[in-house]
Parts: sequence; structure tokens; C-alpha cells
Amino acid sequence: MLHGFTPKERFLPYLSWVDIDALEDKENIVIVLPVGAIEQHGPHLPCSVDATVAAGVAGKALSLLPNSIPAYGIPPIIYGKSDEHIHFPGTITLNGETLLHMVQEIGESVYRAGFRKLLMVNAHGGQPQPLEMAARELRLRHGDYMVIARSAWSVAHDSSFFSDKEKQLSMHAGHGETAIMMALDPDSVKMERAEASYPPPFPCPTLTTGRPAAAWASYDFGPTGVIGDPTKATLEQGQQLLAQLGEQWAQAITEIYQADWIKRQEVSWGRGHYQGHIESRK
Ligand SMILES: [Zn+2]
Repeated sequence: MLHGFTPKERFLPYLSWVDIDALEDKENIVIVLPVGAIEQHGPHLPCSVDATVAAGVAGKALSLLPNSIPAYGIPPIIYGKSDEHIHFPGTITLNGETLLHMVQEIGESVYRAGFRKLLMVNAHGGQPQPLEMAARELRLRHGDYMVIARSAWSVAHDSSFFSDKEKQLSMHAGHGETAIMMALDPDSVKMERAEASYPPPFPCPTLTTGRPAAAWASYDFGPTGVIGDPTKATLEQGQQLLAQLGEQWAQAITEIYQADWIKRQEVSWGRGHYQGHIESRK
């Protein structure tokens, strides 16, 4: 049962190499890589939240696609860069370089198989940077590769049930994550332990009226590891969030499949080209 939330027929590793080799229109097939993390999410949620949300949202989207849109999920990256949560047991972190290399090497393998469209759906707020850097380098290496790294939460969804304070300051294990976990893995949510904890107002208002502009570790904001208010979360809200995120991602995958993205003339560059001297072009 490696496929988890992804429909069996859309889980690429369940195909043989012969079947993958024979796929038609491989340059437009969308390969979806969920990227999660294993890190503390307060006393009321399991450490698996980000891995579950990434795989759950991507899997939901793949399950909503019509047969006419070819897209496949590959196994999620379960571990992420979670060093801001290392003060709490259960957090298992890679460093940024390891995650960057992992994504590059997975991306190269996907490219080598003939695919030209890779979408990363990331559920951990602490790691967009290495994913975006890896995506950019894959593109530099291969000028016919469309590589996208986005947050699972970045597509449109109704957030009217979040309080203003929650919208402004919640970063971790708050209302949204707690609600969607009720939909994805209900037995894992212990609401009797849920409590709110917010960071103090940031002392440089020119830089932010919301989330801190300075780097932080979750332990800096209190002993529970929560940064937000999980106490108002309900199952109905979680089901609605999952349905909306799934629909929006299904739409995004459809658009990526149909997209005609710029192809560079020199298709693949060697390391010397993208790290060394490149003649500028007018
Ligand atoms: Zn999280």
C-alpha cells in the first residue's frame, strides 16, 4: 500500500519500466511529488502532519482528475528541513543541502525517464527555499523542463472561518492544519489537548504587521510548539479545505498538462555551463 492517498492507477511506481517507457506524450504528463516533513505539531497533532497534508492534498487532486488528463504521483519526500522544531522529540530533520540534493536527484531521474513537467506540492512552511533553488537548477540544466515548487496551501480556498489574528499570525499547528488533519487522519487529532499560542507582536512594524520578520525556532514562542489557535477547528471545515485544495490542485495539474512553456534552444547544459562562464545573449 505504498500509494497512500494517491489513487493506485495514478501511482507511477506501480507501473513497470516497460509500461513507463511506452507512455505516450510523456513531455506533457505531469509528475506530482508531494513534499512533507516529520516535525512536532504541538501536543494535539502527530508529527506526521506535513507529510500527511502534502500526500493527502496531492492525492486528492490526482483522484479528481478526469482520465483525459495524464498525471502520476511519485512517492512523497516524507522528511524535510525541520530544524526550527528540533527542541521537541519526534522531529526528524534533514539539513537544507540534503533536501536540495534529494529534489535535484529525484528531478533528474524524472527527466531521464522522459518526463518534462514536475510539480512539487509542499506542505511545510520551513522549506520553500531549497525546493525553489532545486527547481531553478533543474531548469538551468534542462531548458525543456517545467519544474514548479509551491505550497499545498497556496491555491485558493475559503479561509473565512479563520479569525483575523489567525490569518495574521498563525504559522504552525493552528486552525487550518488541525482542521485538515481531522479530515485526513481523524484518529490522530487530540482536541482535548489543543491550546492556542501566538508569537508576540514583532518589534519592527515597518517590516511586518504579521508574522515575525526575524528567524525563529518554535521553542522561542512557548513550550507547546503551537503557533496559532487550533481550538476552533472542526471536521466540516477540514473536509471543506481538503475538497477545495484538491479541486484547485486538480485544476492546476490540468493547466500544467495543457501548458506550452518556453523551451530553451540548448536543451541540456553540462555542469560547466550552468556553474561556469555563460556567454550573455542579446
Ligand atoms: Zn505543519
